[in-house]
Amino acid sequence: AAMTGQERRFRDSVAAVPTAPSTPRRTTEREPAGETFTNATDSDPALPAVRDWGRAAVTAEPLTPTSRTLGSADEVDQVLATGRSAQPAWAARPAAERARVLRRAADELEARRATLVTQAVHEGGKTIDQVDPEVSEAVDFARYYADRAEELAPGASLHTDGASFTPDVLTLVTPPWNFPVAIPIGGVLAALAAGSAVVIKPAPAVPGCAEIAVGALHAAGVPPEVLQIVRCDEGDVGRHLVAHDDVDTVILTGAAETAETFISWRTGRDRGPRVLGETSGKNALVITPAADYDLAVADLVKSAFGHAGQKCSAASLGILVGSAGRSERLRRQLVDAVSSLRVAWPTDIGATMGPVIEPPGEKLRRALTTLEPGESWLVEPRQLDESGRLWSPGLKEGVRPGSWFHLTEAFGPVLGLMRAESLEEAIALQNATQYGLTGGLHSLDEDEIATWLDRVEVGNAYVNRHITGAIVRRQSFGGWKASSVGPGAKAGGPNYVAQLGTFAPDGLPA
Ligand code: GLU
Repeated sequence: AAMTGQERRFRDSVAAVPTAPSTPRRTTEREPAGETFTNATDSDPALPAVRDWGRAAVTAEPLTPTSRTLGSADEVDQVLATGRSAQPAWAARPAAERARVLRRAADELEARRATLVTQAVHEGGKTIDQVDPEVSEAVDFARYYADRAEELAPGASLHTDGASFTPDVLTLVTPPWNFPVAIPIGGVLAALAAGSAVVIKPAPAVPGCAEIAVGALHAAGVPPEVLQIVRCDEGDVGRHLVAHDDVDTVILTGAAETAETFISWRTGRDRGPRVLGETSGKNALVITPAADYDLAVADLVKSAFGHAGQKCSAASLGILVGSAGRSERLRRQLVDAVSSLRVAWPTDIGATMGPVIEPPGEKLRRALTTLEPGESWLVEPRQLDESGRLWSPGLKEGVRPGSWFHLTEAFGPVLGLMRAESLEEAIALQNATQYGLTGGLHSLDEDEIATWLDRVEVGNAYVNRHITGAIVRRQSFGGWKASSVGPGAKAGGPNYVAQLGTFAPDGLPA
């Protein structure tokens, strides 16, 4: 049978981006000697240093905003014109020099770790253990994309086919609020590595983190005209910015509906809409009877309730196979683990789960307050204060195949359990949604692992590990199916920077 576009794209993106899903060995391997990646995603959240930042968080001073507010279409035009006229000089710098600036940016970001953590705690509602690895990820992006910039230099490794790379002139980065440090700055760093000028419009809920991070990049030597940070309303002015002819590529991380809107605004352009998007997910972790239940429970709870479930990568379903679904011990362990999460505002350093970003909208409210036929609460969520933002976590069982909760992303602290008689049936349930972002398997059986890796339709497949917290270079991040828009090279992977431009045979214009 002919492949669908999605299948072809996945195959191509696998061919182009050789990031195999992680296996137990991969996720525990050490970085090769000489590498200086700092990603602390897997680190112990109870490290003493982390607790010190917690005290800093409680006493943080408010920031003075540094980004420019765009009030009209004319001001958008000006900002974009400034970026475009500054870009040729940036692109003309030798790649080694641009790479040096990015490596200095890594150091400048690292130097602002405590400030960034503090800011994300205050404005983003993230607990310290959630945001600290994000700073590491931003630092890793800077060093990793610096290397990629050097590969794109004339005569370097990506030129062995005789093609030369011409960067996009201007990239617009529109990040989400849930990762207020790593996602904005990852997109910015990739575009700068390619040789593009950048305009970043942070998510309105969390502008301060992006401002601090952009300040770090300016301090490292990125000219202010090459990297501009703006705020604007998301009505007409925002649309003018996103749809603008002077924007070559938009890097979007956000809801699938937002990606559709952006694409509709940008269709009809010569090179296509050029929206690179990582969008929604409905992610499941499968637990078979061959799993180590202690580890599986810890990883499922971490994946479901880290940042109150507000990650595209979060686990929203646990699929229990065969006797795992009938195990009273497993059920009790899950209930205990979920009930023992300590929900509080993250300025309280004892919090293990913080608030949701705003009082729940329709979808999340439905997930938190209603049950569908067959479902029952094992742990019923409760609203904990007047703000409407602090909810205790929910765990339900009996989610039925094809139901609303099986197929819909809720983006909050609710985990649903499903049962399957066989691994094959579990994989079918896992693949039934329109999305394909992350997925996990807990099993110590090599045959089950091989079968699952072969059939699961996700961009990021995790075995015997939590399913959030992708790691630059080791496990780059991106989706399949409705979880991805554009060419599909993954963030933190080998071809991400090369997407931000065009290749042409040497001597011909790009
Ligand atoms: N990169 C993050 C992770 O691997 C998820 C990003 C997102 O939720 O948009 O957990």
